[in-house]
Amino acid sequence: KMHNLIQELRGNVRVYARVRPFLPSDQVDASAQHCINVSAHDDSLAILKKDGSSDGNVLESHGFTFDRCFPPSAGQEVVFAEVSEFVQSALDGYNVCLFSYGQTGSGKTHTMQGFGSGPMKGIIPRAMEQVGRYKKMLEAQGWLYEMEVSFIEIYQEQIRDLLRSLAPPNGGAGEESTSTTHDIKKDGKGNMFVTDVAMIQLDPNDPQAVQRIMDVAGRHRSVGATSMNERSSRSHSVFTLHMRASNKERRSQLSGKLNLCDLAGSERLSRSNATGERLKETQAINKSLSALTDVFVAIANKQAHVPYRNSKLTYLLQQCLSGDGKTLMMINLSPTEQSYFESLCTLRFASQVN
Ligand code: ADP
Ligand code: MG
Repeated sequence: KMHNLIQELRGNVRVYARVRPFLPSDQVDASAQHCINVSAHDDSLAILKKDGSSDGNVLESHGFTFDRCFPPSAGQEVVFAEVSEFVQSALDGYNVCLFSYGQTGSGKTHTMQGFGSGPMKGIIPRAMEQVGRYKKMLEAQGWLYEMEVSFIEIYQEQIRDLLRSLAPPNGGAGEESTSTTHDIKKDGKGNMFVTDVAMIQLDPNDPQAVQRIMDVAGRHRSVGATSMNERSSRSHSVFTLHMRASNKERRSQLSGKLNLCDLAGSERLSRSNATGERLKETQAINKSLSALTDVFVAIANKQAHVPYRNSKLTYLLQQCLSGDGKTLMMINLSPTEQSYFESLCTLRFASQVN
């Protein structure tokens, strides 16, 4: 009861902020200072604009507070420890969505996916391990779990199936072509789904199976070159674990969904020097990210009308965002001074969310 009350008072959207460490590619010298100071004990951070002098005089500073703030030293395990309650909620039958938001190079993919199967692995593989452990435990108590994965990307408001090559060939159509169109529909129970998308059975206790799915999806993802990052992500990707559990003895049944969403880079148009096809891409990204912002703002302000239908992403994920769904917005920030403006935009976006 108490938990429900708190939930109701605070809404169903949480915001975490994560600042990545300096990287060799940032080309900062050893004395460089982070432009964002995190104080983890009270989950606040300050972003500072300095005048560039050796004294580092602060010209401007802004403070923000979120549900969690992770400093550059926080590794993947520390971050996941604060994320795992959302994974548990999906196992308990909620519609859950985790977003990673931020400019290109801020650490979105590092957070969501990470690298390899060791300590650098990110939320997706760690979530699958958690799900696998829970599944084993409940199976010992007579529950039957069914788990399937879909993995799509949304590029210029078009859905592409990142697991199409894993789908069993059907009706002699052979390999699915990239021209297959996918729509978002609502089923009889009000669940949103993507039409004709591959649903791959997954044993979450098989790390190789999880890795295979990531590899296949990675090969299908659209990447393009911009002046900011050679392989910047120009699309949103949504990894979804669909779970159904039933227990004959107890005559109970539940289904939950865990959506893990790596958003397209949030950088402003002017920074990318985009023209032609790139310009079209950037405009599509801006449009869908502002549709996402509009939805969060409407929810935070408890507006009667939430404009879910203005983009594919918000339409697909509306169950997580509304009612008794659960959403975590993880904003990713680069510590460099060159990123001051983009980081401030990201922080302002996030402070509107809750
Ligand atoms: P994005 O997906 O937002 O464009 P990436 O996740 O690709 O950014 O991160 C950019 C680079 O920074 C990558 O080389 C990544 O490995 C590295 N990186 C990001 N976050 C961290 C972190 N917390 N610790 C170490 N390296 C990181
Ligand atoms: Mg990325």
